[in-house]
Amino acid sequence: MTVLDVQHVQKIYSSRFKAGQVEALKDIHFTVEEGEYVAIMGESGSGKSTLLNILATLDKPTRGKVLLNGLDTQSIKSKEAAAFRREKLGFVFQDFNLLDTLSTQDNIFLPLVLARESYEEMEKRLKVLAPKLRIKDLLKKRPFELSGGQKQRVAIARALAMEPQLMLFDEPTSALDPEMVGEVLSLMKDLAQGGLTMVVVTHEIGFAREVASRVLFMDKGKIVEEGPPAQVIDHPANPRLKEFFSKVL
Ligand code: ADP
Ligand code: MG
Repeated sequence: MTVLDVQHVQKIYSSRFKAGQVEALKDIHFTVEEGEYVAIMGESGSGKSTLLNILATLDKPTRGKVLLNGLDTQSIKSKEAAAFRREKLGFVFQDFNLLDTLSTQDNIFLPLVLARESYEEMEKRLKVLAPKLRIKDLLKKRPFELSGGQKQRVAIARALAMEPQLMLFDEPTSALDPEMVGEVLSLMKDLAQGGLTMVVVTHEIGFAREVASRVLFMDKGKIVEEGPPAQVIDHPANPRLKEFFSKVL
């Protein structure tokens, strides 16, 4: 089944001045099937976050469409958009986005409360997630008491608790200390192997090579190469990719 269908998406950031226009995405076209793990890679400024924000319905494309399970995400009324995002999509960003005024457990419960889930259901879901994500001993703490890797595991738990159809990650390990990166990556590997559909913007080549079912490589707002990691990372047709991977490897 096709979970995500991105059709000819263009994004122009405009300012009041014509000269200030930036075409951040040019005719982006791809699909993601259920259970796929797609890694998006590319230089800084190539449009990765712009694309992810559009997939997350946090921003609108200038042209083109994004279908989630066949539903045109732009057809959702703005009143319903927040609920749609909360219930269908899980996001994990590099800066965790946890509220320091709430305990870890309440951070995880917050979207479920907004979705009017019963307390019983919340506890049931947390009971399954907490041991998997190794956050059992962190639930009573506040986010500021946690390490970066622990915060990221809590942010992932919060997204998973909603049982999203699609998980979106934007450089989820880039704000972590090197020793924390491994544990978040191994958790993501488990999620991928568990059949969760994921789109991940990442610079972790080893991880993309090992876990991703497909790599999309972006350059100047376009997907310039797409295929299994062994092809895109190790034998790219485009010479710019060889240069990119030789710098980061
Ligand atoms: P990446 O995530 O790959 O580093 P971005 O999607 O953040 O790239 O940026 C792509 C291009 O769009 C860049 O040229 C960036 O300067 C521009 N851009 C991003 N966000 C905005 C914005 N809100 N307004 C204007 N230009 C933007
Ligand atoms: Mg970015």
